[in-house]
Amino acid sequence: MSTTLASARPLDVLGDFPAIPEGWAYLDTAATAQKPKPVIDAITRGYAETYATVHRGVYQRSADMTLAFEASRRRVAQFIGAPSPDEIVFVRGATEGINLVAHSWGNSLKPGDRILLSTLEHHSNIVPWQLLRDRTGIEIDVAPLTGDGRIDLDAVQAMLTPAHKLVALAHVSNVLGSVLDARHAAELAHAVGAKLLLDGCQAVPRLPVDVRSLGCDFYVFSGHKLYGPTGIGVLWARGEILEAMPPWHGGGAMIDRVTFERTTYAPPPARFEAGTPHVVGVIGLHAAIDYVEGIGLDMIYVHERALVKLTREALSTLNSVRLFGPEDSAGIVSFAVEGVHPHDIGTILDEEQVAIRAGHHCAQPLMEHLGVPATARASFGVYNGESDVAALVRGLERVARIFG
Ligand code: PMP
Repeated sequence: MSTTLASARPLDVLGDFPAIPEGWAYLDTAATAQKPKPVIDAITRGYAETYATVHRGVYQRSADMTLAFEASRRRVAQFIGAPSPDEIVFVRGATEGINLVAHSWGNSLKPGDRILLSTLEHHSNIVPWQLLRDRTGIEIDVAPLTGDGRIDLDAVQAMLTPAHKLVALAHVSNVLGSVLDARHAAELAHAVGAKLLLDGCQAVPRLPVDVRSLGCDFYVFSGHKLYGPTGIGVLWARGEILEAMPPWHGGGAMIDRVTFERTTYAPPPARFEAGTPHVVGVIGLHAAIDYVEGIGLDMIYVHERALVKLTREALSTLNSVRLFGPEDSAGIVSFAVEGVHPHDIGTILDEEQVAIRAGHHCAQPLMEHLGVPATARASFGVYNGESDVAALVRGLERVARIFG
């Protein structure tokens, strides 16, 4: 990262977010990000002015919408450093992207093949592989974490064998904020002939991502965590891998020619985009990428790191608070307050106008590893500042007073 922590300064973009009222500390961006005006405007225009279907209409409006839709695909490719827009598949979100890989690429795996995951994965990077295991008889291995909550890449190296066909890891943990050394993970996977899938849900909104320099084979993320609309996300896969993958959903738009005897399929990405797509979602995603790049992902990274540092320092002065995850977490701080259930923390903080997430964060194996049923989690976005951290600390002081 070129910028240093010392250059952290407020991003001063709160005014772009109409759904954040004054005095409300929204600290749940890891669940979903609030939407800036340019994204809301792009969605509104998409329905109120320029709406039509794509890829099929012979009339001008549809042709224009198709151009806008495909411009978004090119924008996504450029945003994550993909060599070609044909490698960008629009999906509903990261969950669907991983399920697509598990079905289309994964279905050719055989008994004896293995997949390696880690202890900190989101359920959406666990369950699709378990379903694949049930279909194909493969085995799943789980890499442990280091003491400070990173995926232990030394252990990954020791565990990998030529039987491993895929390593699937979170680029940034949604609970601990730990950032994976993805390039190293790719080297380790490739050394045994396995592919690397990165779950980029929490990475893409928080740091610059370039799939070519990461060296991964699959990358997935969700638009709604990137300040864009819900219902739209991206699967990127290397061109030659995507080319060899069979379709997983059948229907309109993904075919070459259909007869009752035999159907041939369109080349990627259309092969994987059956049915009428989320046209306006794709338009909104383009606006979201423009928005975050207008600020700069390196600036966002530095900003959120500074807020994490401030939060960790402040919370570590509160006796009853236990902090999880590494010091250099990207924008996410999970914690527990001794003797208080995270849901009670969340409820009391809500009374103080502080919105955090309390629960297992769709990472139950990680909760088990941490030895807690749930954590409280504060996660930051571009609109947060020091006053939000102060509000969190005030709220936690009240929690401490109430629970003695
Ligand atoms: N992976 C990670 C790391 C996540 O944080 C999330 C969302 N919490 C997902 C996957 C799933 O994303 P979605 O629900 O948008 O498909």
